[in-house]
Amino acid sequence: MPFFINFLNKELGVMLVDLDLLFEVSRIDEELKDIEKDKNIKATAIKIRYYKETYENYKNEYNQINRNIKELENLIKDTLKDIESLNKEVKEAEERLYSSNSLKTIDACQKLLENKKADINEKEERVYNYMEKLDAMKVEKEKLLKKGNEVKESYNLLREEYMRLLNDVNERIKILNEKRELITEKIMPVFIEEYERIKNIKGYGMCLLNGEICSGCGIDIPTAIISDAKDKRKITKCPHCGVILYVNE
Ligand SMILES: [Zn+2]
Repeated sequence: MPFFINFLNKELGVMLVDLDLLFEVSRIDEELKDIEKDKNIKATAIKIRYYKETYENYKNEYNQINRNIKELENLIKDTLKDIESLNKEVKEAEERLYSSNSLKTIDACQKLLENKKADINEKEERVYNYMEKLDAMKVEKEKLLKKGNEVKESYNLLREEYMRLLNDVNERIKILNEKRELITEKIMPVFIEEYERIKNIKGYGMCLLNGEICSGCGIDIPTAIISDAKDKRKITKCPHCGVILYVNE
């Protein structure tokens, strides 16, 4: 790590000034900014939300179809009970029919039987349709369960990945902040204060002088200012964008 070398150099008696250290701080700040902008972690978070919503939808659909199945099963049970009691009535009517000699009674019984049997047929037809519908619903229920489980599995995997990414990022941020603090302690407060002030306004406080060009704004720097910037015991700013200039030499 360059800044450790700086400290080492200091111990070895090599002249190292605040501006070098401040530049290390600015590089750490850039790195921290990049981490914050990390698209991978944001994309993963969005994907996780999508999977979660999809899973919830499947779950709701599954619960709904389960309720519908129960309702239909009850309906079938009730209709079968109706058919059973109708059959009993038919049996009783038939007994009355065979034991009666009265034409009037026979006629009434026959009419009753006709109606009851039609009723039974209609109800049996209905049960048959219910059963078909029930089978289809059960197939659909299994499909939903399978899809829901698949989504849940993807969600869990993604969540694990997300937690891993998040831990990595937090670890990186922690290490960088520790480094930053170590370096900052060695810099004159007035340098740090000026740097922070500019950074708060512009988003970055210090830029490398790239040949004769400020790497912050991309504009040529006059020669006199470049000479000033080479003196690392003081702060020299870019006359165009106002950030602290750093000459790497
Ligand atoms: Zn500039």
